[in-house]
Order: sequence, then structure tokens, then C-alpha cells
Amino acid sequence: MKKIGIIGLGYVGLVSGAGISDFGHKVICADIDKKKIGNIKKGNISFFEPGLKELIDRNVKSNRLLFSTDISNTIKKSDIIFIAVGTPEGDLGQADLSHVFDVALKIAKNMNNYKIICTKSTVPVGTGNKIKEIINKNKSNSVEFDYVSNPEFLREGSAVKDFLWPDRVVIGCESNRVFDIMIEVYQPLFRNKKPIMQTEISTAEMVKYASNAFLALKISYINEIANLSETLGCDVKMVANLIGQDGRISPKFLHPGPGYGGSCFPKDTKALVDLAKQAGVPIKTITAAIEANKYQKERMFIKLKKLLKENVKGKTISILGLSFKPNTSDIRESSSIDIISRILKAGGHIRAFDPVANNSMKKIFPNIEYFSNWEKTVENSDCVVIMTEWNEFRSLDLIELRDRLKTPVLFDTRNIFDQSKLLELGFSFDTVGRNKNINY
Ligand code: NAD
Repeated sequence: MKKIGIIGLGYVGLVSGAGISDFGHKVICADIDKKKIGNIKKGNISFFEPGLKELIDRNVKSNRLLFSTDISNTIKKSDIIFIAVGTPEGDLGQADLSHVFDVALKIAKNMNNYKIICTKSTVPVGTGNKIKEIINKNKSNSVEFDYVSNPEFLREGSAVKDFLWPDRVVIGCESNRVFDIMIEVYQPLFRNKKPIMQTEISTAEMVKYASNAFLALKISYINEIANLSETLGCDVKMVANLIGQDGRISPKFLHPGPGYGGSCFPKDTKALVDLAKQAGVPIKTITAAIEANKYQKERMFIKLKKLLKENVKGKTISILGLSFKPNTSDIRESSSIDIISRILKAGGHIRAFDPVANNSMKKIFPNIEYFSNWEKTVENSDCVVIMTEWNEFRSLDLIELRDRLKTPVLFDTRNIFDQSKLLELGFSFDTVGRNKNINY
């Protein structure tokens, strides 16, 4: 059993802390946000993540999982400290590492015995060296430490499952001894023969950006193929299906939509471009993916306007789905934000609903109307736009939807509905990359 400290309790820190305590270790999870910690202690998690509350409750009950606002004490009491604070986008697209360096400084000041300092936050290549430098410069005694880069690959919406059953665990470190200790942290996964890969620190730092940027690129690629397909009269659903059957490509991340969002792809692609710029190496594919994504968001509004015969002013538009993807309350960089802003600017009126993200969106748009179910939301609307492919929208009754709308106008930006049904029911509708006359 290891004594573990997790600093920063966002999606990554909280899931990792609960997951590592479930592996049998003693974990203290710490954050500077007192309100957040107070709420977690009362059993209220600030975001929606399936299975997380149960995982936390189980490990709190077993006395393996504690929460604290005392960062210094957490550092002192832990043998392995995970840094899991945010690395948001800086002014110039670079990763803002101020939170990470702040934690590094606190670690330096509170080093009381040998520690492993392990970064889970997504940080550019070279950050490990900077963290080591900060700790070496600021520690007041000769206590030793080792540094590990352990990037996190969990996905919001399935974070608990991803953490407990990962595809791989990457450990960037400088000695086999440290790697062996990290294997002990992840021992249930090791026993279950999940690949735990040892690399040097810089490779571990790179793999996270390379992975996210590739997925962003794949989404932008299929979005562009969708745009071209709809212009040329092909149907992207079958195109994606057929190219996805090629084992070299795989069908995953080949679903066209309103542009990627979330707390990772937008900032990580920009940070990778910044990293490449600093290194003097062009990375044109990722720059293109970022531009394509920006255009995709614009294109959604262009398509909506066309559907509304260029007349958005005074129209009531229902937005179903606010989170950047289903099963999460995270709205960071969600395409819904973009389309709502554009509709409001054009003089439209918004009625909105998301199964779990209404409250998050209220912080950005306090003055639009929110509802607690799709049925009330769409009432008397001129148009409904599906922005997030929640299961409850996939299965909604299209006849009821049509009858509740003032006019049966629908923009399905996630291609979740059967087009023949929409035609049969008399909807005027648009999709992303589909041909209305082809049914798959
Ligand atoms: P988040 O923004 O949800 O949470 C960050 C937390 O860190 C907040 O609770 C904040 O209060 C806390 N914090 C900030 N400064 C602190 C400090 N000095 N001391 C203690 N706590 C501090 O972040 P997140 O989405 O969990 O992401 C964390 C990191 O993990 C980022 O680098 C992100 O890129 C990476 N990541 C995120 C995901 C994801 O799906 N969200 C997946 C993989 C990796």
C-alpha cells in the first residue's frame, strides 16, 4: 500500500484519486478550491461523471480516500504526489503552466522525505525538466526525489471505466527502480496484464499531445469529407462506414458533427502547434485541423440560417444538448456555445435543454431560457437543433417532436435521426454530410 497525494481535483484528479484508492492505496485528494472540497466531502461532485460517486463513496467508506484543502500537509504525508491541476490555453495558444509550477513550488517547500513527483496534467515536452528545476532550486533540505510523467488518457463520460480499464498506462521516468514503484501503484492493472509502458520523460509528455491531436485531426478530416459529400450529393454515413472498415483506419472518431470541443482537443492542438513553433518545426496538419474545426462551427450557423431561409431574427430556436459530448456536464469549448452566440447575435431567441449541463451553461448564458426536458423546450419553437447526441435524444418520438414545434424544422448536427422518417413526417431538415435521398 502506497501513500498517495493527488493535487488538483478536476475530472482527472478526482477520477484518478478515487481509482488509485480503489487499487488499494491510501489517497489524499487536495485542491485549493475550498468550496469544491466542502461539496465533495458532503457527497456532491461538481460535475457529472457516470460511476464516479459510487467509486468515491466506496473508497471513503473503506478509509482509503480523504479530501483536503491543505496542500502542504498532503505533500508531507504522501510518498507519491500526482500533479493533476489544469493546464488551460494561454494567450498565444501555449499551455498555461502556472498552476503546475505553483504546485511544484509547494512540493519543494514541503519536501520532508523521499518522494516521487508524478505529473498527470497534460504538459508540453520539457515541462518535467522545469518542474525538477523548480523543486531543486526551492527545496530547503537535501531530501531526494524522482520525477515521473504519467499522462492521463481517460475520456469524460467514461472516465471511471477508462481509468480502471485503460488501454495502456504510460510511465515516463529515469530509472527502472522508479518504474517498479509506479507498477506497484497500478498493480491491479499490471496483474490483469494491461500494458504499462516505460518511456523516457519527454516521450511520455509527447504521447498525450500526439494522441489528442491525432483524434482532433481525424474528426476534422471526416467533417471536411462530410462537407464535400453533402455538396457533391454523396452520403457521409456510408463513406465513413466503408473507410472505417479498413483496419488501418478503424471506424472510431469518424462521425461528422458540429466541430470538436471539450477541455482537451482545442487547447492541446493549439499547445502542440505552439510547441512545434518553439522548436522551429512546422506541424501543418494540426494547424489545418484547428482551422477546419473553426470553420465547421461557422458552417453550422450558415447551414442553420439556410434552413431558416436566412431569417434568424425573431425566431425561437430550441437547442437540445449543451455539453460538448454525451454523458458529461462539461461545456468547455462546446459547439453549442458557438451556435448559441451566433443565434443571439443574429436576433434569435433560445430555448435550451441538456440532461446534465444546464447549470454549467447558465454561467455563460444566464439570460436564455432553460428547461428540464426536451418536450417543454421545443414547444412553439420555429426550429430545433440537436447539438449533443445524448441517448434520450436519439430515442425521442419524432411525431411528438413535430407536433410540439411551431414549424417542423430540424437541424440534426449529429446525424442521429433516420432521414426517411424525417421526410415521411414532413420535417424540413438538415444534417452534416448526408444525402436526403439515400437511406442507410
Ligand atoms: P479541471 O480544470 O477540471 O480541474 C483542475 C483542478 O485543479 C481544479 O479543481 C482547480 O481548483 C485545481 N487547481 C488549480 N490550481 C491548483 C493548485 N495550485 N493547487 C491545487 N489545486 C489546484 O482540469 P481537468 O479537466 O481535470 O484537467 C487536468 C489536467 O489533465 C489538464 O492538464 C488536462 O489537459 C489533463 N487531462 C484532462 C482530461 C479531461 O478529460 N478533462 C483527460 C486527460 C488529461
